[in-house]
Amino acid sequence: MATIYSSVVLPNVATSPGLATVQLTEDGQVLVLTRTSLHILTPTLGFTLDQSGALKGSGKGSSDDERKTAINWLRTQIELPISNVLWALESDEFPTAVFSSLESLWHSCCASPSGLSIVDGCLLVTLTSNLELALWEPVKHFAEGEWRLMQNITPLLKEHYSDVKNRNQRALRLQTVSIAWSPQPAQIQDQSTHLSRSASLLAVASRAGIVTFLRYDPLSNSLACASDTTLSDDWITSLAWSPWSDAGLVKRSAILACARPSGAIELIIVSQETDQASLAWVLQIERITTDVDELLLEDDCQISALRWITTHNQVSVLVFCKPGRVCLFTFATGVAAARWSGLRTIQLQTQRISVESTAFAPAAGISYIRDRDAVVVALFDGSVHTIHRVSEAPEYIVNGDAEGFDSASVSQAVRAAFVRHHSQLTSGPKTTVHEANRTTGCVNFADSGHMLWLSEVHRPHAYDYVPDAEKRTSLLLAPLWRLTAEKTFTITIDGIQAVVNTNRELHIPPAGRLRSVLMNLRLSLDDSLLRQVVDLLINIARTPETFYDFDPSVQDAETLLRALKPRFDVNPHLHQLRLRYFLLTVCSQCTNNSELKSTIAQALQQVDVDITRIRLAIFLVLIGDKFIEQEHDQFLARLLVQATRLRCSAQVLDIASRIATRLSVTIPGNVCPACDEAIVTYDVGNARCARGHVWAICSVTASILATPHLRTCSVCNRKALLAPSQTHSLNTRDTLLLVAARSWLAGALSEASRRCPYCGGLFVVLV
Ligand SMILES: [Zn+2]
Ligand SMILES: [Zn+2]
Repeated sequence: MATIYSSVVLPNVATSPGLATVQLTEDGQVLVLTRTSLHILTPTLGFTLDQSGALKGSGKGSSDDERKTAINWLRTQIELPISNVLWALESDEFPTAVFSSLESLWHSCCASPSGLSIVDGCLLVTLTSNLELALWEPVKHFAEGEWRLMQNITPLLKEHYSDVKNRNQRALRLQTVSIAWSPQPAQIQDQSTHLSRSASLLAVASRAGIVTFLRYDPLSNSLACASDTTLSDDWITSLAWSPWSDAGLVKRSAILACARPSGAIELIIVSQETDQASLAWVLQIERITTDVDELLLEDDCQISALRWITTHNQVSVLVFCKPGRVCLFTFATGVAAARWSGLRTIQLQTQRISVESTAFAPAAGISYIRDRDAVVVALFDGSVHTIHRVSEAPEYIVNGDAEGFDSASVSQAVRAAFVRHHSQLTSGPKTTVHEANRTTGCVNFADSGHMLWLSEVHRPHAYDYVPDAEKRTSLLLAPLWRLTAEKTFTITIDGIQAVVNTNRELHIPPAGRLRSVLMNLRLSLDDSLLRQVVDLLINIARTPETFYDFDPSVQDAETLLRALKPRFDVNPHLHQLRLRYFLLTVCSQCTNNSELKSTIAQALQQVDVDITRIRLAIFLVLIGDKFIEQEHDQFLARLLVQATRLRCSAQVLDIASRIATRLSVTIPGNVCPACDEAIVTYDVGNARCARGHVWAICSVTASILATPHLRTCSVCNRKALLAPSQTHSLNTRDTLLLVAARSWLAGALSEASRRCPYCGGLFVVLV
């Protein structure tokens, strides 16, 4: 019987198969796009949020092991907004006609890199079938709460193209048909927070053959047009960004692939660098004309999916699907590691799994499997095709792989999972080949063969009418090929080491970066893998402590925030500690063994102290003893108590004693809000007064939390006061209790800690 880790049934079906239907965001969430709803699902992997409202991943036919390891999903959704644009009013020419103005559906969506929203997570951009674009962000709770409309983007495009006099031409420029948000470029040295948050680009392609580049402005919290380029007079049906290359110290460049209906692909190189004087990005766009003749060939075969993948030896390969074939393309020049170049075309063979099977079906997913060096392409007919040795010499393997990683076996595995799920749902007659399993979207959820796909049943021979409201689609998570225990073990340990020792992609929250590790920990039924992971985390080679520096430019909240944020975010020592804290927290939830739990608790305590100490050192050394206004007394006194209690280094204690002599009177730090007695004992996240009252401590400012208006970490559950910008945006009146509102030093510290300072998880606001 096929194993299924998670299966959930969602109302309605996908608009069309494609890469937009199921997507993973950097925050670790899954976007599922159906005709009328954009589902935002959060797997219960690495999150400790209340799961009472979660969609259960296991069903009535699940085995005990499956129930134990099942992944549940926290969910929220974005409903279709009302159409604002009537295209007939913009232009009455036939090419600008949009036929779904009356009944709008979701057409596409994409997520920004993490770190842009108010909780430092992803933003979403959506495209409806009325060709309207919008930007969305979470309000309080990214996993279960409302996502609000931040900006209608179509009016922004209208303003950008307002000087185009021809109404028809202008309307075509506004009619968006495809979107893609670039990845985050690698951090440039000494880059300000403002520059790094505005470093990625949203590419928007229109029916006029023009790509418009939009950039997020963190000051106004909105998108603005950065540039545009004309490619052809034809539609641009799909877009794909390559990762940014960081060959130079200050310049970043990426390639944007743009597919046209004729089957041709245009490549544009997008380069940007920072202008230090104006603190802004300078963008350069150029069309690539050499070595791309094979891509520009017009064969009138529409491209159903387009994606750049990066192989394990860091070569970028463009993968795209046309009816009956998969094409791979890479450049010859400039990449030492590339073993092949140019275009490789692979003719697919039909995998007979149902009556509807055909290799000419459109693609529903393209994934790169790192440990196999293979590309996995899922088609709408439910089949899956594997292309092996992608970095050396791409090779299509239909059957005969010893570990079951070939097209025939993987397609059969998809079919087997569908048959099992479908028979559990219907409990009617046996599922036959006449019930086709259509795949509308598919992603590599975690390495080790754990694929996630959206499946719907289709009976080509049944002519009865089923209304849209009665149609259902299922999200399935299952292993499609098997790995030995040793290989799973290697992937897990290598995965941890790679993430802990890198200084790249630091903007991605740990739940998104370590999904494969979390998945393997969840699936291991005994403690052996867990013990190895805990061992590794305890004995990991420490990153040497960095030097803390004083910054004379710090004058007010804004300059302090600008100096503080990069010091917290990209400090390699803090980064490593945060990942260890995160993984240890997850490990502690994975076991019931009391001895192992206490080992983990001890390690957590140590990491906790290290993180507090380093953050305190960064902060105190940065501000020195410059700010002696009375409003900061309470806040500084608390930090001094903390510095003494944690036995900070001599450099920090020296500054602490200098601040202490400047404070007007001796202030006891924290006092109990109930009885005014001094706090006598501190535990992880808690404080106790002399009379025994216990209070939670803010994980950012170390103050007593006597207000319900808090942020709670979605991973380790620790609490913090709201950051000033959040208090403003949530319109919270309870500002009197907010220490952050009284001392701008505390405010800036809160603002610089948009994520949990301990585990790096995203915060949610519950009240
Ligand atoms: Zn008390
Ligand atoms: Zn946390």
